[in-house]
Amino acid sequence: MSDIGCHALVWTGTFEREGLTRAVERTRNAGYDLLEIPLLRPHAFDVATAKEILADSDLDVSASMGLSDATDIGSADPEIVKAGEQTLNKAVEIVSELGGRHLCGVLYGVLKKYPGPATAQGRANSQDVLRRVARRAADSGVQLSLEVVNRYESNMFNTCKGALEYLDEVGDDSIKVHLDSYHMNIEESGMIAPVLAAADRLGYVHIGESHRGYLGSGTVDFGSFFRALAMVDYDGPIAFESFSTAVVDDILSVSLAVWRNLWDDSDDLGRHANDFIRGKLRAVETIALH
Ligand code: MN
Repeated sequence: MSDIGCHALVWTGTFEREGLTRAVERTRNAGYDLLEIPLLRPHAFDVATAKEILADSDLDVSASMGLSDATDIGSADPEIVKAGEQTLNKAVEIVSELGGRHLCGVLYGVLKKYPGPATAQGRANSQDVLRRVARRAADSGVQLSLEVVNRYESNMFNTCKGALEYLDEVGDDSIKVHLDSYHMNIEESGMIAPVLAAADRLGYVHIGESHRGYLGSGTVDFGSFFRALAMVDYDGPIAFESFSTAVVDDILSVSLAVWRNLWDDSDDLGRHANDFIRGKLRAVETIALH
């Protein structure tokens, strides 16, 4: 059974005690199993406080992240690549300490519009780092999943096929693919083939609408996507992502180009998405009876 999760930015743009407490309480109240925390500044993250707040709830936890220009493991600069490896190792350590099992997102580079295509050197650098980080992650019981994002947010790969090729070159089966319906809706030919192509190499799923607002109010073909997840017996996390100027994180809001308000009531949005996801899962489950 998949854990149904919610990205913390639905509830809070800050991750000190107050913000985290709010995110944990509201995620639980909206009916989710898991809280996904964006680890935007792993070295500044207060693990002890987060651990304490999570211990008071029965929520599972996961973390997502992207690297910065100073920690881009896809860079040609060895110092920057080294800083990136340290940041990823720190993030793995945090997830492990929090009792989480998943670290996902753009772990292979920066979430930004790159000025040109990825270089062979940058690709190889990022793959070398991920090969090493994956071994440490496996020892800590943490699974890495690389998120496939659209062309405006990465130049490394933009489709599931591209991610699988990249991972074939890495050659470590413990690293999985992370698919996000929002990005798939921009770059893929449909919502079924990528899931079938990834099959048991799919490790994490983000559910986002085409405009990243209320599920069902945009153009994403969720019916097909959930059918495909059922076809491959996907049982990893399924986390809802939505962004609005109603809740702002300085780094993430800018890199994701969140310029307008798509909702103002986090509780209503969160409950709606939880019901929406569970409803789709229930529907595809019954196909087995047909
Ligand atoms: Mn995503």
